[in-house]
Amino acid sequence: MRAAIFRNGEIVVDEMPEPKPDAGQVLVKSLACGICGSDLHARKHAHRMVELARHFPGRNPMDLSRDVVFGHEFCCEVLDCGPGTTGRFKAGTKVCSLPALLTPEGPQGIGYSNDNVGAYAERLLLSEALLLEVPNGLAAEHAALTEPLAVGVHAVAKANIRGDEVPLVIGCGPVGLAVIAALKIRGLHPIVAADYSPARRALAEKLGADVVVDPARSQPYATWAEHAQMSPEEKAARPPLQALLPALKPALIFECVGVPGLIQQVFEGAPRDARIVVVGVCMETDRSEPMLGILKELNVQYVLGYTPEEFAYSLRLIAEGQVDAASMVTATVGIDGVAKAFADLANPEAHTKIIVEPWR
Ligand SMILES: [Zn+2]
Repeated sequence: MRAAIFRNGEIVVDEMPEPKPDAGQVLVKSLACGICGSDLHARKHAHRMVELARHFPGRNPMDLSRDVVFGHEFCCEVLDCGPGTTGRFKAGTKVCSLPALLTPEGPQGIGYSNDNVGAYAERLLLSEALLLEVPNGLAAEHAALTEPLAVGVHAVAKANIRGDEVPLVIGCGPVGLAVIAALKIRGLHPIVAADYSPARRALAEKLGADVVVDPARSQPYATWAEHAQMSPEEKAARPPLQALLPALKPALIFECVGVPGLIQQVFEGAPRDARIVVVGVCMETDRSEPMLGILKELNVQYVLGYTPEEFAYSLRLIAEGQVDAASMVTATVGIDGVAKAFADLANPEAHTKIIVEPWR
């Protein structure tokens, strides 16, 4: 079969052996697979990823001298069921799955592995126990957005929302957009969102942002403060000494960029007692000033991935039309278009999410 393969730091198209389902596994055809920012990071910082994986016993780091097939945001069609499966999913069924394989040695990731081929290949293996049938005749390229949306749903769940916070989303790429969509579902308003790209600000509005900020024109934290003023009742209810502090509602800041310097920028801009959720994936060493965090008593929550329940919930949100996932897809390509798509994604004006259709 054909696949877009990560080999020697580049994406190349080549033939590879046909996967054969093991016990509990299902052979599927990749219908649609999103290109994730993490894939772009992994191509650029693969060695760093391998290095960091050593801090996690039980994780199999990639061997970069061997082929890897990326692709963890997918929707597939069942082709064949392996031994020891229940046959619950008939051939032709459209499915999504967490990007993991259940093996006797424990769960193993799909997409950043030498052994578990991701969905930039024509066919791959999934664990029957993790499959979710795609409901409502939802199109594969939209069902494939389940994984990135789940990242936002999880980040918002981890924020321990009380209901009186005013959120600020820094960065409106796919991660920031997923956070905005998840905040809208939670009913937390107004949602303030900042991005330098006009196209991404427009998308942020489409997905639920109430106020969008161009950081080149105005300071996101100043705009946030304008929209976070306490009501007269809230002001009056404050204990006497707190009345000396600015009358602002609690800040909930989502860092969705993931480049060095961003966390320090958030530390500098954040108001006192802000809760900061770091969703952007920065793969380089970064520095921030602890004293800023100390003086402001900032609360930093890092997040990763999602739970199986959040994943299933995200698929339902898209299938029921509660999240306008379609607006995030800016292009579809075949296997031969993956390498160029990686380059094209560098331009936020042109693209948000590019979907790979390996069957094309
Ligand atoms: Zn991803």
